[in-house]
Amino acid sequence: MEATHKQFRKRNAILNCLRGTDTHPSAEMVHQMLQSEHPDISLATVYRNLSLFKNQGLIQSLGTVNGIERFDANTAPHVHFICTSCSAVLDLIQMNVPEALQRSAEECSGCSVDGCQLTFSGTCRDCLAKRETA
Ligand SMILES: [Zn+2]
Ligand SMILES: [Zn+2]
Repeated sequence: MEATHKQFRKRNAILNCLRGTDTHPSAEMVHQMLQSEHPDISLATVYRNLSLFKNQGLIQSLGTVNGIERFDANTAPHVHFICTSCSAVLDLIQMNVPEALQRSAEECSGCSVDGCQLTFSGTCRDCLAKRETA
């Protein structure tokens, strides 16, 4: 019983951590954020739970940024921007994935398209500002 309760507490802490941030963290970043309040949660536990959440559709994986997998608790389709300088991942919530793009993908492939991950890359505003002052 005790073990199950502990597992559940850890599971919730990891999920809440991801839901409480918009930084699209990696497993390492989640582990670091949990350190002060939950020092008993290991990196292996974070990895295991993130992959579980992903399979359950509670979170989505954005794929890898600079070789490191990043996660998003927002599973609704939305557009991302990835900074190639600092690996920041930003939401472009105001921007919709255009319907025409999906129709065009169906025409080209002959397949039924029901999802799309659209990601832009470049230099984020913070990095642009740093460049200007440097
Ligand atoms: Zn940046
Ligand atoms: Zn996102």
